[in-house]
Amino acid sequence: MDKKLKNQIAIVTGASSGIGAGCARELAYAGATVVVNYPVPGAKAMAESVVDEIAANGGSAVSYKCDVSKEEEVQQMFSDIIGQYGTVDILINNAGLQKDAPFTEMTLEQWNYVLSVNLTGQFLCAREAIKEFLRRGVNGKSKSAGKIVCMSSVHEVIPWAGHANYAASKGGVMLMMKTIAQEFAPKKIRINSIAPGAIATPINHSAWDTQAHLQELLKLIPQKRVGQVEDVGKAAVWLSSDDSDYVNGTTLFVDGGMTLYPGFEDNG
Ligand code: NAD
Repeated sequence: MDKKLKNQIAIVTGASSGIGAGCARELAYAGATVVVNYPVPGAKAMAESVVDEIAANGGSAVSYKCDVSKEEEVQQMFSDIIGQYGTVDILINNAGLQKDAPFTEMTLEQWNYVLSVNLTGQFLCAREAIKEFLRRGVNGKSKSAGKIVCMSSVHEVIPWAGHANYAASKGGVMLMMKTIAQEFAPKKIRINSIAPGAIATPINHSAWDTQAHLQELLKLIPQKRVGQVEDVGKAAVWLSSDDSDYVNGTTLFVDGGMTLYPGFEDNG
């Protein structure tokens, strides 16, 4: 197998389940040593099972507890990982959640909670990663001094009624990503996003758990299949590797065509 990320250290946030776990596996199989981040003690066992699966397949990974919305915890995580491995080469800014509510019933707590993890969490992790990339510079393992992949969503461009906090967080991720990509491209740091469509994970279980729900969901997907976490993980490997060296400040939609206005498939 081609180990495009050999000897590189990757932190994947929110990696004890879903897309984060998929990214952790694919990065590890591409040769990276992967930090499987999880937020609370209760998620440790799931994070450890991702680590064990990676090890059983010949990869290298370690779990690390850190709530990405907490500044001190994020700083401690980067400090510990850099202390242990010497540096960090790749950040997959994946942790995210939903707290849905009709807009007039959405509480400030629901609004703040989603923004604090989905947007502030990405800011805090990207800031620590970039500080390390700037300190180290290009080190011969990659053409870049560092790579960040922000996990956005098709809802960085598709409005989503009943999910104003989530859509606002992903719209925010889009312009944060582009802004810091512009700021740090001269320093050979690459920052891009992946915008998944509907990927089968715990976050959207109710959208595909029955045949009726699945058929409704497939109306929104021209490719007529729900995505799998590997679809996103493989895109994350590409965006983290030198194969995408001239790609910077871009959102890669991994959505089976969900952003192609599927309502017009049948003449509108
Ligand atoms: P998921 O619920 O399986 O994964 C989210 C992960 O984030 C969980 O492992 C959770 O423990 C972790 N997390 C939550 N709060 C955290 C915190 N404060 N600190 C650290 N980790 C925290 O769902 P998923 O679908 O795998 O979601 C992963 C990312 O993909 C999210 O950013 C989500 O918005 C995005 N996304 C998912 C889909 C989809 O269809 N599944 C579509 C578009 C975007």
